[in-house]
Amino acid sequence: MTLKFHNTLSGEIDEFKPQTPGKALIYTCGPTVYDYATIGNLASYIYWDTLVRVLMANNYQVVRVMNITDVGHLTSDADEGEDKLEKGAKRDGKNAWEIASFYTKAFISDINQLNFIQPQYLAKASDYIPDQLNLIRKLKEKGYTYQIDDGIYFDTSKFPTYADFAHLDLDAQKAGARVEFNPEKRNHSDFALWKFTPTGTKRDMEWEAPSDLLDSGTQKVMGFPGWHLECSAISMAILGETLDIHTGGIDHIPVHHTNEIAQSEAANGVKFCNYWLHNEFLKVNGTKISKSLGNYFTLSDLVKKGFSPLDFRMFVLQGNYRNEGNFTFEGLQAAKNRLLNWRNIAALRHQTHDTIKSDADTNQDEKTVSLYATPQALIEALNDDLGTPEGLKIIDDAFSTLLSKKLASINQAALIQLLQTIDDVLGLKLLETTPDIDDETKQFIIQRNTFRDLKQWDKADEIRNQLLDRGIVLRDSQNETIWEYSNKVSD
Ligand code: AMP
Ligand code: ZN
Repeated sequence: MTLKFHNTLSGEIDEFKPQTPGKALIYTCGPTVYDYATIGNLASYIYWDTLVRVLMANNYQVVRVMNITDVGHLTSDADEGEDKLEKGAKRDGKNAWEIASFYTKAFISDINQLNFIQPQYLAKASDYIPDQLNLIRKLKEKGYTYQIDDGIYFDTSKFPTYADFAHLDLDAQKAGARVEFNPEKRNHSDFALWKFTPTGTKRDMEWEAPSDLLDSGTQKVMGFPGWHLECSAISMAILGETLDIHTGGIDHIPVHHTNEIAQSEAANGVKFCNYWLHNEFLKVNGTKISKSLGNYFTLSDLVKKGFSPLDFRMFVLQGNYRNEGNFTFEGLQAAKNRLLNWRNIAALRHQTHDTIKSDADTNQDEKTVSLYATPQALIEALNDDLGTPEGLKIIDDAFSTLLSKKLASINQAALIQLLQTIDDVLGLKLLETTPDIDDETKQFIIQRNTFRDLKQWDKADEIRNQLLDRGIVLRDSQNETIWEYSNKVSD
């Protein structure tokens, strides 16, 4: 099976060919831990978790790093403004280390609730300061850096292909330079590798810049890494000089990823990454997510309103990562309903009769054959540039075919195989969240059906209500009764 992705680097849909057959080295730009992750941030990570799952379904061994930005991400991409962590610390009345630890834990809780395959490496920028300093040293030795009053910068004019990745028009950028542009910089696009702590101030997170990185005659000075540096240094330290896949949101293309490429390739003289995948943004009610607009929803905001994290995962998978998403609570409710329907199909595996059919039976049963073919069709849809909406449609079609069958003719083994594949690639926990009902509940159903057959409707209804209290509803169809979960199932 071929696996294809839209590669920002080529601008085309490229077949995935890793450097080492069967192995995929992936780097994902992680969260800046100064606040809770928004549902927009989490949508991005849901796509990349799905990417990992799809690679694994194609038998790749995935080695994945995600950084945790706990230092150096300033409020402005132009290397100006406050450090987001130090600002968050002031807001919450804590120090930057406490803020980082608190919101890192909150992020890990989010990714567990969303059933992510945790990257093997969750690397904090502050744990990789020596690697970042070494990278600056390498760049300095090759003549790519210069020092000004507030820090050490990368000279983008020394890297001729700087503008290529994002198709930047550097002259236009210069003409439209914003007020915050530091006039000491040689070029508008130059970026900070290391910033000095302003004289007379003390930061929560700061390190002494080694003297060999500084211009001669510079006083001993504390400082901190520029935001872009961490991703290059961390990925090199763990995954080596060239990555197979790098992921992030589209906002990262013109600055953050452009700078990662420049500093990595300038330092190592080899290509930094072969495939770049970027997700479009999620909006809320058609508007950009922002604190001031009051639409800065977190996962726990959704949970407080009665939705489960997996409802949100389903919502995100309904869209393609390359299309702008629009979050609404109606949309989330529709995703919740779809997930409940899927869970009720998953529960049919407890209600089908014996699965061992004769060969003749299996061969002739076209519907069973199509059930067996569905996992493959699902993976093929996902292999085509992470086609999650198409994959979901394939599942819906297979499930509606099942619903048109009598219980006894549903092949349990084929159904379980399909559910397992769905769980593997989409992470929706269909098997785990759909336990069988206990024996007492089963007895209730038998009694209720007896009362119904005897036309003792009051008694039959009484049991129906008791079942409802247990979260079970009954559906009578084609002369048989199917039990389903009421909408109270939680993840
Ligand atoms: P940050 O913590 O701001 O560095 O963002 C973490 C990740 O979320 C980055 O890859 C961003 O590109 C991505 N991101 C931020 N906002 C959104 C959004 N509204 N929709 C999708 N992805 C987003
Ligand atoms: Zn990054």
